[in-house]
Amino acid sequence: MVYRVTLIPGDGIGPEVTEAAKRVLEATGIAFQWDLAYAGAEVMDKEGTPLPDYVLESIRKNRVAFKGPITTPIGSGFRSVNVALRKKLDLYACIRPCKTYPGVPSLYKDVDIVIVRENTEDLYAGIEFEKGTPEAAALARLVAETMGSTIRTDSGLSLKMISEMGSRRIVKFAFEYARAHRRKKVTATHKANIMKFSDGLFLAIAREVAKEYPDVEFEDRLVDNMCMQLVKRPQQFDVVVAPNLYGDIISDLCAGLVGGLGLAPGANISDDIAVFEPTHGSAPKYTGQNKANPMAMMLSGAMMLRHLGEAKAADRLEKAIADVIVEGRTVTYDMKSDITGVPAAGTSQVADAVIEKLRER
Ligand code: NAD
Repeated sequence: MVYRVTLIPGDGIGPEVTEAAKRVLEATGIAFQWDLAYAGAEVMDKEGTPLPDYVLESIRKNRVAFKGPITTPIGSGFRSVNVALRKKLDLYACIRPCKTYPGVPSLYKDVDIVIVRENTEDLYAGIEFEKGTPEAAALARLVAETMGSTIRTDSGLSLKMISEMGSRRIVKFAFEYARAHRRKKVTATHKANIMKFSDGLFLAIAREVAKEYPDVEFEDRLVDNMCMQLVKRPQQFDVVVAPNLYGDIISDLCAGLVGGLGLAPGANISDDIAVFEPTHGSAPKYTGQNKANPMAMMLSGAMMLRHLGEAKAADRLEKAIADVIVEGRTVTYDMKSDITGVPAAGTSQVADAVIEKLRER
């Protein structure tokens, strides 16, 4: 069996970490046919769009994609390709496991949390009104007429939208995930005390859905308290379900708890398509330096193998990565503790070391 997968190298450190992960995936013995597809700033310069239609068509056809990070200009310029992909393909569920592997220099040794982030709604839906535009003024007038509240004329506006349908399907996804992976608890996080009609709706639906899963414990936390508790006692959390923005922020927080972004994999899932990518971005300052940690991308590859039904190969790959970590000799700069005295390895050397371990198994 040959799996046909859309491969998007991305930019910044993307091409280096995807190449390293592609090599280890192939070393598991599973056969892939990679359909290369390009998106991002360079594509924008050449083709006038950062996300050409053929990329979406390739993913729709193959139903599985393996994607490196893509840079989004900050404050201005084109909108995020990552957000556009998730919206256009309705990849509504983002799964981000954060687990401590023995040997990783990190704050805790026993964290095993899975973040389930809603991926299509909330403040990330991209409905924004630029300061000083007639559209911003029209919205401000509507708010004044209907609510009696004033919006300052020098404001930029972003709409936060949380729907009943969107909340129901992501919370159901989280509970189904918990059941399928024998996890005990789902924690919903929100700010429903302040945003009663958006986060409040999310919480009300979460409570409703939780009743359908009496075998899985349910609790909720205000997101500010959640952040504090995650830092102080992360072991109390199991599966965490969150609207888009909080899910994004908490994912990086949890990555920090288990050793950093270089170890945090992810998957974006719709009812029939899955796009696997690490939590981290394109870390532009490390571009082309053979410096970035490819393990988050490799672990995203292990998630992809499981999705394809290749659980044994996924286990072998994860174990090979864990072996390289525990040895501590061939790890990148971000995973070095000072005690070993061995210099940090490069991205491609980590791939060589993981392939070596796969051969030994
Ligand atoms: P980032 O995740 O790229 O990097 C933050 C820091 O984390 C880096 O400076 C580096 O110190 C560390 N880091 C990240 N990945 C690493 C790795 N594999 N190995 C070692 N260290 C690593 O976040 P940022 O700097 O906020 O964003 C850079 C760009 O990436 C932005 O344009 C942003 O929009 C984009 N981004 C893309 C995605 C995606 O493609 N899904 C996700 C997040 C950010």
